[in-house]
Amino acid sequence: MKEDFNDIFVVTGQCPAQQQLLDYVQGKLSAAEQHEVEKHVANCELCSDALEGLAAMPQKERLPVMVRQMKWQLLRKLRKKNHRRKWHNDHSQDYYMQLVLAVMAILFLLLAAFWAVHFMQK
Ligand SMILES: [Zn+2]
Repeated sequence: MKEDFNDIFVVTGQCPAQQQLLDYVQGKLSAAEQHEVEKHVANCELCSDALEGLAAMPQKERLPVMVRQMKWQLLRKLRKKNHRRKWHNDHSQDYYMQLVLAVMAILFLLLAAFWAVHFMQK
């Protein structure tokens, strides 16, 4: 089983299974298998992030589920980066507020000027 993992892993170059990452973190893999995982993780951001999370987490029994969730969240985050609608909305709202304040300031100055002229004429 573990030799199979090694071969498949090298041939396909795909991400190792969650269980394999888990075994790696828990030190259950042989030195050669560990090396393969390390080689992959060095080139795969998804797995390196997942491994980081695995290493930091205390409840190792629940990890396989959490890895799946983390990968999903990571993918969602990456997708969100493509269209930052919220940021644009917030930004344009700030711009709009500044515009309103500027217009109000100008109106106030005009009004003050109008009254000043009005009183000077009297
Ligand atoms: Zn990977």
